[in-house]
Amino acid sequence: MGDAGSAGQLNEPLRHLLDGLSNSALSLISKLDDGGHRVWIVGGAIRDALKGLVPHDIDIATDASPEEVIALIPHAIPTGIQFGTVTVPPRDEDGQIEITTLRADGEYIDGRRPTSVTFGASIEEDLERRDFTVNAMALDPVNRTLIDPHFGRNDLDNGVLRAVGDPMKRFKEDGLRVLRAYRFMAHPSGPYLPDESLAHTLHGGGAVPLLVGVSKERVLMEMERLLTFPSVEDTLVRMERDGVLSVVFGPEWSVASPEGLDDCFDDEVNPWALRVARFALLLRRTDSVSRSILLEGLRMSGQDRSAVLAVCERLGQLPDPLDTGQLRRYRVALGTHLGAQLAADRCLDPSLANSVHNSLMSLAPLKAGENPLVNGLMIVDRLSMEAGPELGRVKSLLYRVQIEHDISDAESVWEAAGDLDGPAQMWP
Ligand code: ATP
Ligand code: MG
Repeated sequence: MGDAGSAGQLNEPLRHLLDGLSNSALSLISKLDDGGHRVWIVGGAIRDALKGLVPHDIDIATDASPEEVIALIPHAIPTGIQFGTVTVPPRDEDGQIEITTLRADGEYIDGRRPTSVTFGASIEEDLERRDFTVNAMALDPVNRTLIDPHFGRNDLDNGVLRAVGDPMKRFKEDGLRVLRAYRFMAHPSGPYLPDESLAHTLHGGGAVPLLVGVSKERVLMEMERLLTFPSVEDTLVRMERDGVLSVVFGPEWSVASPEGLDDCFDDEVNPWALRVARFALLLRRTDSVSRSILLEGLRMSGQDRSAVLAVCERLGQLPDPLDTGQLRRYRVALGTHLGAQLAADRCLDPSLANSVHNSLMSLAPLKAGENPLVNGLMIVDRLSMEAGPELGRVKSLLYRVQIEHDISDAESVWEAAGDLDGPAQMWP
C-alpha cells in the first residue's frame, strides 16, 4: 500500500482538471489551505477527468474538522455532519461542492452505516473506506500530486472494476455497494468489467442477498442513476442473470429482457424521460396491479410512478407518422410523458418510433391551443342533457374531434362531430 501508486508529474487530463477549476472551487481550496489545512479532490471527479469527461461535481477531502471547515467557509451547510460532510451550495457555473473531513469508518453492524467514524485519519485511510479502486484516488491541488494507493488509474485504463480490499467484506459492511458495483460497470467513464474476485462474489458468490437489507430509498437512487447512463444493456443483462433485478424489484416482478434498452438513449432525450422509459420497459411483462405495488415498494415518487405506469400502458400504440390527426391526438394525450413514451417505444420498434418523432417535430402547434372549446355547460344547454356519464362521453368526444382537426371555434367542433357517436378517448 503506502503511496506505491502515487504519480510524480500529473498527466494532461489532471492538469486540465486543476487548471479548469471554477473560481468558487479555487476559493474554497485556498481558504482551507491558508487556514493551514490539507486539501484533496477525491472520488468521481478524478476518475471522470482521466477519461476526458467533464466532472459534474467536485468532492473535497480535508484534514480540517467539520467545525474548522464551517469557521473558514461560513456559507457551508452541515448536510451530514456526523460523517464529517458539509456542502457548499452551487454558485455560478458550479454544481454543489461537498467537503468531507478525512475519516476512517468504524465497525459496520447493520450493513448500512458505520456505527462510528473516526476523524483525524490520513488520506490513505480515507481512500481505503471507498468502494472501488477507480473511485479511490485523491488529487492534491496545492502540491499537484495524485495519490493512488490502490492503482485505480491502472484499472481505469484497463476498464477493470475492482473493490478496495476484499469484495465480500466490503459488501457486508454496506450492501448498497452490490448495486453500486453494477452501476459503475455501466458508468460513462467505463465500461468496466469486474475483476475475477468481484465477478465471482456477485455471480453466485453470496453478495446479492446482502442488498435485501438496504433501504429502498438508497436502492432507488442508485437504480435511477444507473438508468440514465447512455449504455446500460449489458449491465442489466448481467444484473438479471445474477438475480439482482429480482431483489431490486421484488416478488411482483415478471422477468423482462433488458435487451434493446440502449436504444432508448439518444442525444436529445432528457434524463428523466430516459429513466422513466427504461423502468417502464423493465416492467412491461409485469401485470398492471403488480406493477403499481412494485413501484410503491420501490418508494418511487407519485409523479414518476404515474409516468412509468402510463408509458407501460401505451407501449406499442404509436400513431401513424403520416396521419396528422393521429399525431395531434397523440401529442395531446401524452402531454409531459411524450419524450419518455417515444424513448421506450424506440426500444421496441426503432424505425417507427423515429418516424413518429420526426413527424412530431414538424407538426404545427394547435391554432386554438389545447383548452377544450366546448365545455359542459354548453353541452347541457344545447342538448338539454343532465350531468352524468353520457355528458362526460360527449365532452370527451368533442374534445377529441377538436384536437384531431385542429379546430378553433366551438360551432365548427359541433359540426365536425356530426351525430356524436364516434370514439371519445383521446388516444388511441
Ligand atoms: P457519480 O459521478 O456517478 O456521482 P461518484 O464517484 O461521484 O460518481 P458518488 O455516489 O457520488 O459517486 O460517491 C462519491 C464517492 O464517495 C465515490 O467515488 C466513492 O469514493 C465514495 N462512496 C460513495 N458511496 C460509497 C459507499 N456506499 N461505499 C464506499 N464508498 C462510497
Ligand atoms: Mg457524485
